[in-house]
Amino acid sequence: MTDAAGYSNYLTPLAETRATPGTQYGTFAIAPIAAGTIVVTFGGSEMNRRHFNTFPDERRSRSLQIELDSFLLGPAERQLGDAVNHSCEPNCGMGNATQLVAMQNISAGEEISFDYAMSDASNYDEFTCICGSSLCRGNITSHDWKLPELQQRYNGYFSPYIVRKIKAHEKAHQLRKSEAEELLRNYDSDPRGSLTKALRVTSGYSNSSFEILYSLLDLAAMGAHNEDDVVKYLNEMRVYPKSG
Ligand SMILES: [Zn+2]
Repeated sequence: MTDAAGYSNYLTPLAETRATPGTQYGTFAIAPIAAGTIVVTFGGSEMNRRHFNTFPDERRSRSLQIELDSFLLGPAERQLGDAVNHSCEPNCGMGNATQLVAMQNISAGEEISFDYAMSDASNYDEFTCICGSSLCRGNITSHDWKLPELQQRYNGYFSPYIVRKIKAHEKAHQLRKSEAEELLRNYDSDPRGSLTKALRVTSGYSNSSFEILYSLLDLAAMGAHNEDDVVKYLNEMRVYPKSG
């Protein structure tokens, strides 16, 4: 979606995007910004991962993941609000799936930043960080949301789908003996249904469909291309508790 001026994103008039030597572009406060202020609203074309992956890296790096299988692709050319850099010690966080809010008071001249771990859990935007903070993680990966320290520090500033990922991650476990037996018992009569049930256990997503779970767990990448492959995958990761 674009506004009347043709911009995909909203950037507060209290900040501006400009060219910088190191990172090429950055966004800076030009007036004090109070904690809680909406600094950026991200826009773009919404699409699933398969479609998203057909676009060039540069454009995908100016994009935002807003759901497990939903992305906002940035416009073809860089626009306002399109250049908010990552920092491992940021002054902004995700207020919801598409808005960046100030986590603290920001002074004029300060660079606007957020931690990409707050919004992105896909491997299209992994990089070596040069933010210079003493908290710098060095390598920024799509798994950083799992770090307990970040979960604590950014509590309330993760994208809603990451919050659900964190909860699912806590709940997920390998199939217990009884659950594995149930899968094998029901597989022949109801392959899709029994697999869905088992994948819900191993992923922690208790309500997701088979298709979502398949994509979420990246089963295609694990070599699981049909129901029998998925059973094999589940069997391989199954660990029986020592006593029944
Ligand atoms: Zn860093």
